[in-house]
Amino acid sequence: MSFDVVVVGGGVSGAGLALVLGRLGRRVALVEAAGALLPLVRGFVREGLHFDTGFHYTGGLGPGGILARYFDCLGLSGLSPLPLDPEGFDRLRFLDPAFELCLPCGQARIRERLGAAFPAERGAIEAYLAAIDRAVAASPFLNPGRPLPQTLTFEASGPTLAGFLDGLGAGPLLAAVLSLHCLLHGTPPGEILLSDHARVVAGYLESAHGLAGGGAALARSFEQALAAQGTSLHLGREARAIVLSPAGAVAGVRLAGGEVLSAPAVAAAIHPRRLLGLVPEGVFRPAYRRRLHGLPSTPSASVLFGVLSGDPGPLAGKNLLLSPGIDVEAHFSPRTPPERRALYVTCGLEASADGRRAIEVIAPDYPSPAPGEDDKAGRLARLEARFAAACPELAPRVRFVDGATPRTFARLLNDPDGGLYGVRHAAEAPVPLPLTRLPGLFLSGQNVLAPGVLGAVVSAFVTASLMCGPEPVRRLLEKAQ
Ligand SMILES: Cc1cc2nc3c(=O)[nH]c(=O)nc-3n(C[C@H](O)[C@H](O)[C@H](O)COP(=O)(O)OP(=O)(O)OC[C@H]3O[C@@H](n4cnc5c(N)ncnc54)[C@H](O)[C@@H]3O)c2cc1C
Repeated sequence: MSFDVVVVGGGVSGAGLALVLGRLGRRVALVEAAGALLPLVRGFVREGLHFDTGFHYTGGLGPGGILARYFDCLGLSGLSPLPLDPEGFDRLRFLDPAFELCLPCGQARIRERLGAAFPAERGAIEAYLAAIDRAVAASPFLNPGRPLPQTLTFEASGPTLAGFLDGLGAGPLLAAVLSLHCLLHGTPPGEILLSDHARVVAGYLESAHGLAGGGAALARSFEQALAAQGTSLHLGREARAIVLSPAGAVAGVRLAGGEVLSAPAVAAAIHPRRLLGLVPEGVFRPAYRRRLHGLPSTPSASVLFGVLSGDPGPLAGKNLLLSPGIDVEAHFSPRTPPERRALYVTCGLEASADGRRAIEVIAPDYPSPAPGEDDKAGRLARLEARFAAACPELAPRVRFVDGATPRTFARLLNDPDGGLYGVRHAAEAPVPLPLTRLPGLFLSGQNVLAPGVLGAVVSAFVTASLMCGPEPVRRLLEKAQ
């Protein structure tokens, strides 16, 4: 079978890229190793409740929001955003020193709330919010009304988040409060560039939404749009090799079983380490191979999935982000004892007819260094004890029904580290660019641009603009103004 482009990887980014390319008139094949599209975000059902795996909430889904506009451009329909509490969508709780703050949406409210808690540091708060605005304004992809650049340059300079906050003279507690959202991208404050951090968190600071039906609704919407477009789907088929022409250019993709999908262009929306296995030896320079191979991972996690009966109390319309201490950096190190790492608790925005809700307890965790050992029962028992201590008002009404460990995520993400957000976006170890030196091979996804559903979707547009030129992509984006 022959196509204009084969997209490898049917996550949000690969499926999004297939949609953009299809809308630009390309004949596209989309290959996904799992049996269904968007396996990371589609979640699962237990006891009649939907549980999310790779999508809980996002910024930019309010009216006119950036992600809503991108969804519109992709032709996604049937999605109903559900707002979290705009007066406090994330409850940030520190145990030592004891401090709690519910972060509201909207810069004016955030300024007021943080200013009241840190009256002597209003200047630092103001400077932080202004820096977030500047980083967003500098990105054409977060301002789709602006012309797209002819060539893509990625700002890989500037201070890290920790360095910036330090330079502002932010006290350690304020710095911890402003850094805790590093949990939304998985790179610690001392490693992530302020600009990269800003591009992930800015949307959440404006508005925070879940989706009716959760990640499953998002997966369905992608499926419908791809079907309407007539994209050739190859599900449950692993790409095994990128096939080259005698001249050394991309000629297609060989699937498990030997079938070849022919195309002069391939976009890989998969983990860069997986890409190495697909490209023949000698195509990439040894230094590039070593770089891809050595990209550090974001933390994996252990997760408890439970059923909450009755009122969600402190979790009504908000998540709980709990940090035992104010050393946010510690949450991103396997050397930190599990009980000193963060805890993230989220409760379904929708209740069943009999008043039950899905509740999830997530903690950064790491694969066991000894292959084959996982101690799933031990990891989940320790997590349950931490949840009971952190949420004594809810724990008696929660019954856990399932659990996941780093091994689960290694399988789901097709990467041995099972990093929730793929590779770290660390200043010292830059992520690969979407262009490769192999003619016709492009990269896309959370590992290339930015993590999260927004990052994965935006990366699809960035990669499409490299493959098809910025002008047609700009026109497509204009339609959703
Ligand atoms: C527990 C958890 C919670 C999260 N919560 C949120 C949240 O609340 N909000 C948010 O915005 N983001 C969240 N994220 C992050 C978000 O899910 C990801 O950033 C995003 O889905 C990544 O999309 P992607 O397409 O880049 O990568 P992936 O979804 O990893 O897609 C890559 C795909 O490629 C496939 N693949 C790999 N190798 C091959 C091969 N050789 N052949 C064929 N297919 C292959 C894989 O099966 C996979 O489906 C969360 C992630 C996790 C794990």
